[in-house]
Amino acid sequence: MYWIGQSDRFDSRPGSCSVSVPVPGLHGSSAVGLPFWHPEHTKLMDFNNTRYIPMSRRRRIYEGKAKVLYEGPEPGTLIQHFKDDATAFNKQKHQVIEGKGVLNNRISEYLFQHLNDIGVPTHFIRRLNMREQLIREVEIVPLEVVVRNVAAGSLSQRLGIEEGTQLPRSIIEFYYKNDQLNDPMVSEEHITAFGWATPQEIDDVMALAIRVNDFLTGLFLGIGIRLVDFKMECGRLFENEMMRIIVADEISPDSCRLWDIKSNEKLDKDRFRRDLGGLLEAYTEVAKRLGILMENERPAGSGPVLVKS
Ligand code: C5P
Repeated sequence: MYWIGQSDRFDSRPGSCSVSVPVPGLHGSSAVGLPFWHPEHTKLMDFNNTRYIPMSRRRRIYEGKAKVLYEGPEPGTLIQHFKDDATAFNKQKHQVIEGKGVLNNRISEYLFQHLNDIGVPTHFIRRLNMREQLIREVEIVPLEVVVRNVAAGSLSQRLGIEEGTQLPRSIIEFYYKNDQLNDPMVSEEHITAFGWATPQEIDDVMALAIRVNDFLTGLFLGIGIRLVDFKMECGRLFENEMMRIIVADEISPDSCRLWDIKSNEKLDKDRFRRDLGGLLEAYTEVAKRLGILMENERPAGSGPVLVKS
């Protein structure tokens, strides 16, 4: 078996989900005879021309509530698979909603690709199929970063502010990713004292959060949707001797509050959390307004549909 990659250093980091990936097909190929690491290998790392690994032969790296991560076809890559599972209140509520994973994969692809295009670094490389995307492997910063523009959800409950109240400015909050503790809200003091991120990393995360919020707010406004709040996650990407913070995970109606501008109708996971029904229809509406339709329904690249107020 031939192993390529420089991922040994990742493996020693706490919280890293990186692995050394055995690459099938390399033994007996042009790679034979090359030293463990050789520039020739980089030619094989063509992210747009990825070898297909049958599902049964893939190694599962991590399974979360709504997604599974598999080893990727090249070192430094993973495959992110979107499940149909909907969970809320730390898994106390659970339902399988057929088609949700497909919609989230497409919507998240659309948003991450556009973020990449405007120079906001993300883990997204490309979509592989209806449920999966190829992503860069990162070391996840154990924080949920919530950006709020309008009062709703836990902010309204905690501070007694009526849902729908426009906030005086966008507010960024941090939650420590820990299911056993129900993802408690934490301050920058906690984050740096406990070593979850350095002050510089917090600055980078906040700068990314503001850029993502500005971009998404404008994008959704153009299709008649108010971005009330959203959650994002960040990861450390190691390239050569450098490390930088990039946007990771997903951005979809599972992780955003999206309200129709005119009717205030909820087009997000609150439909499930609050037993409103019609989750799939709501996510489909978001996808349609973004100009994303199921394959073969319309030529690709039709773009967002402008909604006039
Ligand atoms: O519940 P709360 O009001 O704190 O949620 C704020 C935002 O973060 C919402 O858009 C929600 O969908 C998202 N969120 C999430 N995953 C969590 C908690 C919140 O995507 N575990």
